Amino acid sequence: MKALTFRGIKTIAYETVSDPRIKNPGDVIVKVEQTAICGSDLHVYHGRESGLDEGTVMGHEFTGEIVDVGKAVKNLSKGDQVVSPFSTNCGQCYFCDIGLTARCTNGQLFGWVEGGMGLHGAQAELVRVPYADSTMVQIPEGIDSKHALLAGDTLSTGYFCAENAEIRPGGLYVVIGCGPVGLLTIMAAFEQGAQHIVAIDNVYDRLEMANQLGAVAWHLNENPILYILEKTHGIGAEAVMEAVGSPGAQDLAIKLVRPGGIISTVGVHTSHDFSFSPSDAYNLNLTFKIGRCPARYYMDILMPKLMDWRWDLDKIFSHELSLKEGPRAYEIFDRKEDSALKILLKP
Ligand code: NAD
Ligand code: ZN
Repeated sequence: MKALTFRGIKTIAYETVSDPRIKNPGDVIVKVEQTAICGSDLHVYHGRESGLDEGTVMGHEFTGEIVDVGKAVKNLSKGDQVVSPFSTNCGQCYFCDIGLTARCTNGQLFGWVEGGMGLHGAQAELVRVPYADSTMVQIPEGIDSKHALLAGDTLSTGYFCAENAEIRPGGLYVVIGCGPVGLLTIMAAFEQGAQHIVAIDNVYDRLEMANQLGAVAWHLNENPILYILEKTHGIGAEAVMEAVGSPGAQDLAIKLVRPGGIISTVGVHTSHDFSFSPSDAYNLNLTFKIGRCPARYYMDILMPKLMDWRWDLDKIFSHELSLKEGPRAYEIFDRKEDSALKILLKP
């Protein structure tokens, strides 16, 4: 089959690799119908995450049709239209039981093979899905498969980010980063009752989209700290939702949050140090929440909500290209050329 593979820093290849086959009885094989590039793929692309084997098939956002089913699979059949979260989960361990599916003891991230171990990704014609019964979700009738794809990663992550911010009506909330995750965090925060959101980024098109969602868009270079302090009479934001994953964004978050407030971080951080010190955190009575979204858990909450979602999710998709154009798509996405926001690839 054809696939997009990691071949080194800023090098993605479109090449022929061997077809995945059923390996364990709980596996299914999915014929990928659409797959998207995520901000998390950029961490790999830039080599900020070390260890990925050359030749690893990239990607973890996808929908498709089941074309082969392992002997132990009970709930899925050939022909089912499905969407996956970005990692697999067994549905039986302690962490699956408490809803922290992203930390399943037996879970694997799609597109992550290290030292020959791991799971290939979905930017390909076919993908193998272990623990399919507990991992895959059938796309309900009436839900656009593109919207379902968002529920498998970025929308779940935005919802999780907003939930961790413990939103209450009235206060001022900040979202740092207006990529797909940040924009979906804004939608989720409004959905969860936020009334005033300031969204910060340095890309004008993205700020414009945040503005259209009802947030006050503020450019990173226009002193957001002064603006938030003025708006809150010197107190600071109730909570800051960070959807970037850089030391600079973390540093900004701590300067914007009020004493006793919350920083909710979903940006993937690869640094070994915090941008703030334990004493900064102590002096602010800070609550800091960070981590990988348990997307499978949130998919059950979000699928019914997608039936009448208030905001236009189609706007999140800026480009639709063929899988073959994948290497170029990564360049466009990385450079945010041509207002790239989320690129859908069709095998
Ligand atoms: P993206 O790269 O498209 O968006 C990031 C945005 O942040 C960009 O618009 C960029 O201009 C902006 N930005 C960069 N530095 C900034 C700064 N200092 N202040 C304000 N804005 C800044 O990525 P995305 O797809 O929206 O994903 C966002 C982050 O969420 C990534 O780190 C991604 O890996 C992570 N993520 C985490 C999870 C999870 O489970 N926690 C899931 C999906 C994505
Ligand atoms: Zn992702």
